[in-house]
Amino acid sequence: MSTLTEAPTMLRVEGVHKWMGHNHVLRGVDLEVRQGEIVCILGPSGSGKSTLLRCINHLDPVDGGVVEVESERIGYETRRGTLYEQSERDVARARRRIGMVFQHFNLFQHLTALENVTYGPVKVLRRPRAEAVAHGRELLASVGLGQKEDSYPSELSGGQQQRVAIARALAMRPQLMMFDEPTSALDPELVGEVLAVMKRVAEGGMTMVVVTHEIGFAREVADRVVFMDQGVVVEEGTASEVLDDPRHERTASFLRRVR
Ligand code: ADP
Ligand code: MG
Repeated sequence: MSTLTEAPTMLRVEGVHKWMGHNHVLRGVDLEVRQGEIVCILGPSGSGKSTLLRCINHLDPVDGGVVEVESERIGYETRRGTLYEQSERDVARARRRIGMVFQHFNLFQHLTALENVTYGPVKVLRRPRAEAVAHGRELLASVGLGQKEDSYPSELSGGQQQRVAIARALAMRPQLMMFDEPTSALDPELVGEVLAVMKRVAEGGMTMVVVTHEIGFAREVADRVVFMDQGVVVEEGTASEVLDDPRHERTASFLRRVR
């Protein structure tokens, strides 16, 4: 989209390498995401998508390259072979700007939906409880769970739990939301309600990086689609460029398999 090409850069990944034991999992990944942009990452299992998100969020250190969120480096960087590490404090601060939603919702089982959503703002951001509760209620309502604030995760469907997880991530007021196959663990009839919530978050102007196999969602919501294979970005473009007219055989064969 032309307006987005003018927007400031929210995330810059440059030449990122990551080894897992003897496995060279990320082999020089480049990715730039602008403010307000929705980027969907597709790719076969094992191509490094989750590892990339973990590196962006500094859950895993990179072995080379640069990760910047809003022009602040939160990764490691290699310059002439030297590895620099950010302080723990910088990392924690930078990580707070990113909301993360996983395949397995990872809610706190012993807390209600509302408590799950207010936990971070109260304990980590040290917001006043009343303010966190008011914002949490608003967020639960916005994901269609206004009536479920006192329910525990075990009393909710998978789709409802994932919607709580999205509300919980939004409660931290992140600048960037990342989703790692958020609907892959759901029964098919529950996928739509989660995608609908994600679409609404996107329409609210959030910057989003979404790893998904939901081609329909990518087509409808993504400003840009990125195809990864074997630890590199193979190609990227608009949804219709990548999905309808892929330039690489690896992309085409992947799309034939997931369709
Ligand atoms: P994707 O999310 O695209 O399916 P991953 O990022 O999970 O891919 O994994 C990329 C590669 O890294 C795979 O080959 C996987 O086996 C390997 N890998 C992931 N986690 C580990 C780990 N903890 N130890 C060793 N290898 C790993
Ligand atoms: Mg994965």
